[in-house]
Amino acid sequence: MKIICIGRNYADHAKEMKAALPTEPIYFLKPDTALLKERNFYYPSFTKDLHFECELVVRIEKVGKHISPEFAHKYYTHMTLGIDFTARDIQQQCKENGLPWERAKGFDHSAPISNTWIEKSQINLETAEFKFFQNDMLRQTGQPRDFIFGIDTIISYVSQYMTLKTGDLIFTGTPAGVGPIQIGDTLRAELNGQELLHLDIC
Ligand code: MG
Repeated sequence: MKIICIGRNYADHAKEMKAALPTEPIYFLKPDTALLKERNFYYPSFTKDLHFECELVVRIEKVGKHISPEFAHKYYTHMTLGIDFTARDIQQQCKENGLPWERAKGFDHSAPISNTWIEKSQINLETAEFKFFQNDMLRQTGQPRDFIFGIDTIISYVSQYMTLKTGDLIFTGTPAGVGPIQIGDTLRAELNGQELLHLDIC
């Protein structure tokens, strides 16, 4: 199982990162050891600036490659919410030196997701909204209609380069509002008002 993460998929987040808008999807991978389904997240010792990035997550349901956009919807049936934890200090070093991001993005438990999956028939992507709270303070609001690249485009694009397999996850990018977490924080994420994710930072 692989975790595919889309970068800069919301214009407002690209702006806060002082990054140009992409003309085609940008993606990177996290290993399966990044997945976290427990309630506790242990702050790693190698970073002093760990940021949350709350994202809508799509689960691939069947094997596919060279998927055309018009058939991409057949490859996923469920969505949930997750966090693309990012060691921003390490990522900055990687960017400055033109190095890959895995050390900043692919560490153990850097991809917590909800245990609850929502059928896509229950989600209208034109009106859906997710919210992310840090210690009950609203930090991020995301609306899939603001995606620069929609889910079908992402699936089609990535599958031109690598085979998608059952159980693969796609993190679809984060909206503006990313920020640092601290030990003792409680993080929560909800989709259309339903709480899906609850994490305690230890
Ligand atoms: Mg992200």
